[in-house]
Amino acid sequence: MDLSKHAFFEGKIVPLADAKINIATHGFLYGTAVFGGMRGYWNEEKKRLFVFRPYDHFRRLLHSARMLAMQTGYDEESLIQLTLDLLRTDNWQQDIYMRPSFYKADLGIGVRLHDLKDEFCMFVIAYEPYVKNDTNAHVTFSSWRRIDDNVIPARGKVSGAYANSALIKTDANRAGFDEALVLDNNGHVSEGSAMNIFMLRDGVLVTPPVTDNILEGITRKSVIELARNELGLTVVERSIDRTEVFISEEMFMTGTAAQITAVTKVDHRPIGAGVMGPVTTKLRTMYEDILRGKNKKYEHWNVAV
Ligand code: PMP
Repeated sequence: MDLSKHAFFEGKIVPLADAKINIATHGFLYGTAVFGGMRGYWNEEKKRLFVFRPYDHFRRLLHSARMLAMQTGYDEESLIQLTLDLLRTDNWQQDIYMRPSFYKADLGIGVRLHDLKDEFCMFVIAYEPYVKNDTNAHVTFSSWRRIDDNVIPARGKVSGAYANSALIKTDANRAGFDEALVLDNNGHVSEGSAMNIFMLRDGVLVTPPVTDNILEGITRKSVIELARNELGLTVVERSIDRTEVFISEEMFMTGTAAQITAVTKVDHRPIGAGVMGPVTTKLRTMYEDILRGKNKKYEHWNVAV
């Protein structure tokens, strides 16, 4: 993994090698940290790096922090500024992934959320493709259930909760699948291990509502807008049953890492014709242009470094 030379740690930019936490740190011991995952895309013609929707990413991160009763002292704008400073320090000229986190920074034992100091940190890595078969993923229904809002909020990116995603991902990969679909405790399809899901049924694009234990994805939000405004599709946010997936015409997963990944088979059953469908194809092309700052109408989603 190609890691950044510098990181943001304890209030300033430092060499990555100096950005170290103590083994007695609360966030490490109890998973009491929240994180974000953002991408930056290099535009070769313009010789510029574009960060995709950082305001929305930091807004969600600050919401996640609130769910863990954190007092951060940052707002979206100050986090964007600090990101730009960090990216300029290492002069990135390629596709990247950024990982900002807030964590409970006190040292010692004692499981709780209150009366603890909250710190912020961020590092960067060079981008590596996330899902290998992103035009023809074969996914399975996981035997694991998605964490529930009354267990650990799925709408927050809580570090400790990603043990759930890791169980889902590892079992799916070891069984030979690219990814998994996860049911919530009501038996509805919630999302993948680290991505939201969409299906096309009778020409209507359907995705689970934010009340079905999903992360409120930035890619999901972007795709809903593009499908409605650019493809003229009806998009409905409603619960999805397991067997609806089998009879859908198209299916895809969305995420900062996964971008728009076409799902063409679920548990050995072909979705639609068993190849990437026209709606997924159009959305992928449009999305790729937007990410690289090549679409004027959606330029405002990007922040140039
Ligand atoms: N669900 C989960 C559980 C995730 O970890 C992610 C990745 N952040 C997503 C969905 C997709 O969200 P986004 O589009 O904001 O990356």
